[in-house]
Amino acid sequence: MSIRTLVLVLGDQLDLHASAFDGFDTSRDAVWMAEVTEESTHVWSSKQRIVFFLAAMRHFAQDLRENGRQVYYRYLDDPLNKGTFTTELKADLLSLRPERVKVTAPGDWRVLQLLKAVVQESGLTLEVSEDRHFLNTVREFAGHAKARKSLRLEYFYRELRQRHGILMQKEPNQSKPIEGRWNFDEDNRQTFGVKGPGMLPERAIFLPDAITSEVITLVEKRFSTHPGSLASFAWPVSRVQALEALRRFIDERLSLFGPYEDAMWPSEPWLYHSHLSAALNLKLLGAREVIQAAEEAYQAGRVSLQSAEGFIRQILGWREYVRGIYWTQMPQYLDRNALVATFNLPSFYWTGETEIACLRDVITQTLEFGYAHHIQRLMVTGLFALLFGVDPRQTHEWYLAVYVDAVEWVELPNTLGMSQYGDGGLMASKPYVATGKYIQRMGGPCATCRFDPAQRIGDNACPYTTLYWDFLMRHEALLSKNIRMSMQLKNLARLSKDERSAISDQAAKLRQLII
Ligand SMILES: Cc1cc2nc3c(=O)[nH]c(=O)nc-3n(C[C@H](O)[C@H](O)[C@H](O)COP(=O)(O)OP(=O)(O)OC[C@H]3O[C@@H](n4cnc5c(N)ncnc54)[C@H](O)[C@@H]3O)c2cc1C
Ligand code: SF4
Repeated sequence: MSIRTLVLVLGDQLDLHASAFDGFDTSRDAVWMAEVTEESTHVWSSKQRIVFFLAAMRHFAQDLRENGRQVYYRYLDDPLNKGTFTTELKADLLSLRPERVKVTAPGDWRVLQLLKAVVQESGLTLEVSEDRHFLNTVREFAGHAKARKSLRLEYFYRELRQRHGILMQKEPNQSKPIEGRWNFDEDNRQTFGVKGPGMLPERAIFLPDAITSEVITLVEKRFSTHPGSLASFAWPVSRVQALEALRRFIDERLSLFGPYEDAMWPSEPWLYHSHLSAALNLKLLGAREVIQAAEEAYQAGRVSLQSAEGFIRQILGWREYVRGIYWTQMPQYLDRNALVATFNLPSFYWTGETEIACLRDVITQTLEFGYAHHIQRLMVTGLFALLFGVDPRQTHEWYLAVYVDAVEWVELPNTLGMSQYGDGGLMASKPYVATGKYIQRMGGPCATCRFDPAQRIGDNACPYTTLYWDFLMRHEALLSKNIRMSMQLKNLARLSKDERSAISDQAAKLRQLII
């Protein structure tokens, strides 16, 4: 059969209703998907991440076939598979000779350039359609950004709430938020106190079926030296499983999501978070349906507004916002390094072998599950890299490699911008810096750590606390231009000359020990 339209489906586009399928005719059109080694090696992807993507792709291909769609699928272990999108797509365009090639807008800038080039080489033009998964288009974001001197999440988020009528009052007050409040951030910073979180809901577990087990065997063999382990692999890898994960979150966790969204507790990775980012990013779940499920739970009186709003803000606010930043700033964004940070990422990020207890906990958990919640990423692994002075490009590559939800459009602005201040304040109004006392207050494992979060110099000094003061000293001139840093710089000004030089010496020794 000659093919009219070949629809390219990437590993993070697993949605039967994606825009590239509009007008799909099963008698004349076909789907193309490929597993390529390059996507697991351009950063040193963890085994959990590789299995998650491949297993989800294979389940989706099965769904497509059950839907009567013809699928040309390149398996990773096919001896003819040369391992890159370029080689595989080029070969298939030559043999299939479609009249048109379509794709839903890819999430990654790199992938879009690559696909465009291959299709053009074959004499066709790649037709790229809007990704309807998102509630805001890149053009709309650019319009929002253009009208402003500086970008901040809050106004963008309010605009989207109004435009989509989410958690808004009824007519005639439809431009006002429900209960008159846009934001419950202040109330959403509770900790578990000394007693800890008590009984937590069980993680939703999806045991590997035959397809996933086959992928696990393949990845163990093919990527044996890659970081992490697969013993606990239990992510939802199909639409049906993703819907079940959403239901479990709404029923079991959402009610306490808000109050404890910033809290941590040793050896408790899951807490009241949704663990839905990976399913969302691969489009097994729609952003709208997830937001709607949370809003309905509030309307039905099952969860507080504080929790529903806190959760919706992450998806309607942050997720859409970082996508806008990514697509309006790429490709220059990748190279930004406003703090001129040049140290290498400490090697323990790939093993978890360090005596710094909070880092050991979060990295070990990350390698085991491919997951850490936001505060662990921002205020444990991210904070350490920022204070240490790691080159943001290396930090970015680590985050892109180790998390099952890692795709560049969402990972890069969060890492380089929000966490590392590499964009000089485009994403975050100030660097997120703190001493070890912050980690202690939020529930970190300081009680069992050999360091003391209150000490900045001496044998027991907490590395975070030493490096925090060292960070303020190293960047004092730049930070003094930022009004939001004035309190922290005022405290710095209280230190004597001797204290300053003792901190610098301790930080230098620490760097030598760690590298
Ligand atoms: C350094 C760093 C790197 C990150 N890398 C990624 C990444 O590669 N992929 C990714 O999806 N998220 C990333 N995040 C954002 C956030 O940490 C994760 O989305 C969240 O931890 C996923 O867990 P969850 O599904 O349990 O989230 P929940 O806490 O349950 O939040 C609900 C949902 O909101 C969305 N969300 C929450 N915070 C953010 C945010 N800051 N930006 C965008 N979406 C958000 C996610 O889709 C998430 O599933 C990163 C954050 C930091 C600080
Ligand atoms: S004392 Fe410092 S290094 Fe140890 S767990 Fe607490 S914050 Fe982390």
